[in-house]
Amino acid sequence: NKQIIFPDYVTGFPKESDLKITTTTIDLRLPEGSTSVLVKNLYLSCDPYMRICMGKPDPLSSSLVPPYKTGVPIIGLGVSKVIDSGHPDYKKGDLLWGLVGWEEYSVITLTTYSHFKIEHTDVPLSYYTGLLGMPGMTAYAGFYEVCSPKKGETVFVSAASGAVGQLVGQFAKLMGCYVVGSAGSKEKVYLLKTKFGFDDAFNYKEEKDFSAALKRYFPEGIDIYFENVGGKMLDAVLINMKLHGRVAVCGMISQYNLVDPEGVHNLPTILYKRIQLQGFGVCDFYDKYPKFLDFVLPYIREGKITYVEDIAEGFESGPSALLGLFEGKNVGKQLFVVARE
Ligand code: NDP
Repeated sequence: NKQIIFPDYVTGFPKESDLKITTTTIDLRLPEGSTSVLVKNLYLSCDPYMRICMGKPDPLSSSLVPPYKTGVPIIGLGVSKVIDSGHPDYKKGDLLWGLVGWEEYSVITLTTYSHFKIEHTDVPLSYYTGLLGMPGMTAYAGFYEVCSPKKGETVFVSAASGAVGQLVGQFAKLMGCYVVGSAGSKEKVYLLKTKFGFDDAFNYKEEKDFSAALKRYFPEGIDIYFENVGGKMLDAVLINMKLHGRVAVCGMISQYNLVDPEGVHNLPTILYKRIQLQGFGVCDFYDKYPKFLDFVLPYIREGKITYVEDIAEGFESGPSALLGLFEGKNVGKQLFVVARE
């Protein structure tokens, strides 16, 4: 059983040597009387929050994302096939997605919303790490529940071509909003405009002044900001928000590797413009997962929602695929294949 072990807590930008690949043996049958489920991991997901789990335990973040234990495989989300089960809801051959170790086989204990059975297999299985998994639910809950969008409103999305952002943009278009995204390369900007239907997009790495860039696309201001990056972008957005605008704080990836997070200077604008700024965690919305599937599956089948994935091949590619998120190497949802069946 190959495993990707987390040796010790990380400060600053993580390196590949911060994760170690080892091999152990595993019994491919559960002991008599076990209520656990033994799974073979097929697709493992690389998600930015995992960097927060790699930091020293911090009571501030651990209520949302618990820190990793050292010396054992790191935990992430994955799509897996049941090999043996002591749980009444699962039998051999069933597919599920949820929390597993970064290893070829995992023994999992089911708790509320820790795992979801995969019932629809007419779509790519890998989608359950992205579009039909945690990032999809994040885009759905964050946009519809937190942003309360209305037809005709102006929407800005940062890290817009990623696992979450590409969906927020498509949901905003379905709602009849005007939506602009920012991303870190020409290729990503092209995808936003041609594949995901954003009305416009820009490469933030080519902009000296983020506020001036936002004014170009939103001369009347922004109604909704879907925040994925934090830092200087948040500062620039705040002064470009409309009166009574809403900011859904989904993530702040530009801050996760910093020892001292950057300050935000334009906070008084929140008062002057009566902006509603709300952080949220997808874990608080999983009761809506069945409703989300009913909503999104027809759009996927009709080709009205599309999804770009960045799939790395092989177990050994896991660490570099994960670290690549923090350099913007991924184009679309980053995951890696452990086994195809
Ligand atoms: P992505 O697929 O968007 O991958 C991360 C992207 O972030 C990179 O490709 C890169 O894109 C961008 N990025 C990396 N470093 C920086 C930086 N220093 N400044 C600006 N952009 C940077 O990831 P996800 O869609 O999975 O996640 C997006 C955000 O949503 C993250 O902040 C994540 O933590 C958050 N999240 C929150 C959840 C919640 O429950 N609240 C759940 C899931 C995700 P580019 O090339 O465009 O810079």
